[in-house]
Amino acid sequence: MKRTIDVQAAVAIAASEAIAAKTQGTFGVGGVMLDQHGNVLKSLHNNVIKHGLIYDPTAHGERQLIDWYYAERAKGRELPPPEEITIVTSLDPCAMCTGAILSGGFNVVVAAPDQKAGINYNGSAFFPSLPSTLQPQAEATFSYPAVLGTSSYARRGAGASPKPFFIGKTIAEPTQALCSLVFEATSTGVMDLFNIDPPQQELKDPSTLPEDHPIVRALKRTFPDALTYKCEPRRPDAGLAPYLQAARTRDKGMAGRGDAVALLDSFGNLILCSHGRHTHSGIRTAFMECTRAYAQLRYKLMEGADAQTQAEVRQYLGHPKDGTFVFALGPDESALSFMNLGAYGSTMEGALPGNNPDQFQYVVPGMAEEQLHALCGRMPPLYRNLIRIRPVQVADRALIEALDA
Ligand SMILES: [Zn+2]
Repeated sequence: MKRTIDVQAAVAIAASEAIAAKTQGTFGVGGVMLDQHGNVLKSLHNNVIKHGLIYDPTAHGERQLIDWYYAERAKGRELPPPEEITIVTSLDPCAMCTGAILSGGFNVVVAAPDQKAGINYNGSAFFPSLPSTLQPQAEATFSYPAVLGTSSYARRGAGASPKPFFIGKTIAEPTQALCSLVFEATSTGVMDLFNIDPPQQELKDPSTLPEDHPIVRALKRTFPDALTYKCEPRRPDAGLAPYLQAARTRDKGMAGRGDAVALLDSFGNLILCSHGRHTHSGIRTAFMECTRAYAQLRYKLMEGADAQTQAEVRQYLGHPKDGTFVFALGPDESALSFMNLGAYGSTMEGALPGNNPDQFQYVVPGMAEEQLHALCGRMPPLYRNLIRIRPVQVADRALIEALDA
């Protein structure tokens, strides 16, 4: 096992992963996970895009490292507890990855800043975006080492001290510049890939397709109850309750708190209803499962297919921003909930369509709506200014009563 006892050496590994990510055509970000002695447990990079298609909007480096860690432990491998693990990342964690890191209790060492989506977008290392209950933990575990030099990449150290096994505690200026430049070189092009789906008025209703159509078959393989419920577009009603309740029961059976997330398309069709898989990994929440399953359904149908087939998939299975995510449980102040908000942002990636401001709906509130909107209004600029995340409770009283009971 390779041992890394200098922050600089670990950042260099993250940077080389970031270059591999850029080569793949996805966001140029990479990371490495170290144990309490500096041994490299795993290094990997962003996998949001594969073959020019969205593969998994949640496949950021840090999120994947954490899922890898839990999966190894579930297989029986002995690994130190998260408090002894350090994730070194080439770019400041986004809201999703920050929530994942805090929910597990991992330590993080950050190279390049991200002024749009980074949790330390303002450079203060005081994390005003986080619920106040999570700020002390972030201050104690998020480290922004000094970058020595005189260029714009130089900075003073901020945040927590890196773990004691690190002998060298600074980042070299050229390595820091590399981390920044590799990300900047990819961010615009990758975000453009999120905006090539047809506009809502060009979408077609998948419930009009024959049962044996490849899109319907793939949909039913992912979720057997797909297309068995339909409501007025964006107005989920009590008919959705049994699907959410069944998923909530399965969520509890897999060590979750009884959450479930449904995805309705722009015609009001039920596409997916997911539960969490917390026994596999502490961060596999219902929303993570739902957004990932839908992205991968689209990916599998489009990967390697001709242009006509790809266009058909995009028409019948529209981008989720034109549909509605319905959460059984609304956001609260927990780290997992913050992760979900961030993952929601990563799923939308760009501005919500003007005619669909209520894309994010929940049934049972996790906090007062005013408080929730204040929390979303403090998120890093990408989330609050571009996407404008603003969850609202479903309008249908009967659906609320069905889940409250
Ligand atoms: Zn992230």
